Amino acid sequence: MTSRLRHLTTLEHLPRECIERLLDRAIAMRDACAHGTRKLDLLRGRTVLNLFFEPSTRTRTSFELAARRLGADVVNFDIGFSSTSKGEELYDTLHTLEAMHLDAIVVRHKQSGTPEELVRHAMSGVSVINAGDGNRAHPTQGLLDALTIRQHRPDFENLVVTICGDIRHSRVARSDVHALSALGTGEIRLCGPAPLMPDPAEFPNCRFYDDFDAAIEGANVAIMLRLQKERMASTDLPDEAAYFARYGLDVRRLARAAKGCLVMHPGPINRGIEIATEVADGAQSRILEQVGNGVFVRMAVLGEVLAR
Ligand code: ASP
Repeated sequence: MTSRLRHLTTLEHLPRECIERLLDRAIAMRDACAHGTRKLDLLRGRTVLNLFFEPSTRTRTSFELAARRLGADVVNFDIGFSSTSKGEELYDTLHTLEAMHLDAIVVRHKQSGTPEELVRHAMSGVSVINAGDGNRAHPTQGLLDALTIRQHRPDFENLVVTICGDIRHSRVARSDVHALSALGTGEIRLCGPAPLMPDPAEFPNCRFYDDFDAAIEGANVAIMLRLQKERMASTDLPDEAAYFARYGLDVRRLARAAKGCLVMHPGPINRGIEIATEVADGAQSRILEQVGNGVFVRMAVLGEVLAR
C-alpha cells in the first residue's frame, strides 16, 4: 500500500493504487452523502484556505463545499489579477495568511509550479493542494474525470479516449493523461490544430491527430477542451467559426464515435466553439456528472491529506 499523500500538486508519477484509493474514497464520500449525511465531521476543527489567483467557478465552489461537508472551516481568498511581481504576491500573501493557523491551502495560480513553491515555503504541517497551475496540472480535475469514466467504463484497458482542443495550454489535458495512463487506458488520442498541440515528447503514450473526424472514430470517451485564450499569443487564436467546423463536437461527429461514447468537458463550456449545444446537453453528455463528482473527489483529497 502506498503511503498517504501529504500534498497533492500533480498526478504525474502517482502510482495506480494511489489514484484508485482516491477514487474509492470519493465513492465512499458520495455514498455517505447519499445516505442523508449532509455533513461529516472528519475535518472538524481544521481550516482550509482557498487561495485563488485566477478566476474559478466550479473548482473553488466545490473545494469549499467539500471542505464544509467534512466539517472544516473555510477561508476564501480571491486575489484575481495583481500587478505585483509573482514573488511578492505569493509570499506576502502566504506569510500574512499563515498567522491564521491553516491546515491546508488550496491554490490556483497562472504560474506553473506555484504549488511546489508553496510546499517549500509553507509552514510545516500545512498541506498544499493544487487547484490548477498555469498549463501544468489540475490534479483534482484529472481525478474527477477518471472517476466519471470509471463509473460507466471501469475497463480502462479497452477504452479509446480522445481529448480534443487546446492541448498545449491545458492543465486538464495533462492531468487527464496522467490519470488515464496510470489506470492503464488502452489508447489516448490527442487532437487539435498544430499551434495548439504540445511537443509529442511530453506525451509519449498518446497518439497525435490533427483531423478530428479521424480522432473521434471509434472513441469511447470524448473530452473536449476550451481554447485557453488567456494563455495564448493573440496570433495563435483561431477564427472561432473555422475552429468549430474542424474541431467542434457536433451530432455528426459524435456519430463516428463508438456507441454510447461519453461526452465530457471540464467547463467553462463555449457552446458553438468546442461543442454544439445539442451535444453538450444531449443524452451522452456527462458534463454535469463531472461537476457533481468534483465535490466527492475534493472531499476524498482533503480527507487524505488532512487525515490525522
Ligand atoms: N476549468 C478548467 C481549468 O481551470 C478548464 C478551463 O478553464 O478551460 O483549467
